[in-house]
Amino acid sequence: MRPPVTGTQAVPGHRLTLLTSQSPDDWALSTPLQTVIYPPLNRLGLTLKIKRDDALDHRLSGNKLYKLYGHLQQARQQQSTQQQATRLLSFGGYYSNHLHALAYLGRAAGMATLGLVRGHEPQTLSPTLRDCREQGMELHFLSRQQYRLLSAAGQDTAPLQQLLQSGDSSINIDNSLTTDNTYIIPAGGGGSAGLSGCSAIMSALRAQTDLRQATVCVACGTGTTLAGLLSASQEGERLLGFAALKLGEQLPAYQAGIKEQLAGKMIGAQWDIREDSYFGGFGKTRAPLFAFMQQFEAETGVLLDPVYTAKMLFQVVRLAEAGYWPAGHEIIVIHTGGLQGRRGYPELQAGH
Ligand SMILES: *Cc1c(COP(=O)(O)O)cnc(C)c1O
Repeated sequence: MRPPVTGTQAVPGHRLTLLTSQSPDDWALSTPLQTVIYPPLNRLGLTLKIKRDDALDHRLSGNKLYKLYGHLQQARQQQSTQQQATRLLSFGGYYSNHLHALAYLGRAAGMATLGLVRGHEPQTLSPTLRDCREQGMELHFLSRQQYRLLSAAGQDTAPLQQLLQSGDSSINIDNSLTTDNTYIIPAGGGGSAGLSGCSAIMSALRAQTDLRQATVCVACGTGTTLAGLLSASQEGERLLGFAALKLGEQLPAYQAGIKEQLAGKMIGAQWDIREDSYFGGFGKTRAPLFAFMQQFEAETGVLLDPVYTAKMLFQVVRLAEAGYWPAGHEIIVIHTGGLQGRRGYPELQAGH
């Protein structure tokens, strides 16, 4: 085990504290929209620009920070009205970008964090969960069934309360966990609070480039990030979401789910969703994905993550080659981070 973070490491900690005292508008305007030379797109007459939200901070970056912002605000509000120490609770898997971001955010913002993890406690913790624990996050491991039940409840505390009172010894959550001092962040950081921070990215893009001859591309899981972008979009703009899931017949329902998150707000832009039919679904990979990543990274110097951003760019290239965009068009890809998750893939480790 690595030694715990001590006062001597206060300098990087200070950077995170600064980051968490800023707003999504500050973050979104601070990350560059980088024009990237990438011949497979350039020879079709297309320009590739990457919004480098992975570059906010190597520990706390990408869309997860934007999604957590509104939740942190709400939790702080709750804290001041209830005069109680509030801790942040959320859900995720062994390699969760969301829990990882939450652990760093909580520490930087001076709030306790609690992660409910899907699956039994492994013999060896994943690098992601090890980081979480080092940042002071309390981890509890749930059976898949318990996880499904609790994570589906959103911000409704009743199912968690019930489970705690059931005395189910397998759940193993300490008794000090009452839900009254705990702010629950829904799995994936969604909800209207999660969505609001993401809208800043769209406004920043508009300040950084002319969006009229462009398509803004973003990888989607819950679709909250895309919904946030759409909420700030204007007529004449185009957005394309690349679901990291295999949707098949559920594509229309998925699209409806994104609209639902917008809660009746008008969408200015034209938008569409592409699904991951090629790699077989969420978290699934095949050799061509790693080959693509290697080639893209060697060519551009921009690292990708295999769950979201690599699949998106793979599909972007396929669409471009199929003539989806006219020459002269600008493809704006949002780099939503997630690079910490690369540690779960032996294919991506040096020397492989
Ligand atoms: C979580 C995540 C997404 C998807 O965001 P949603 O708001 O759930 O759609 C995209 N990219 C990365 C790197 C992520 O970690």
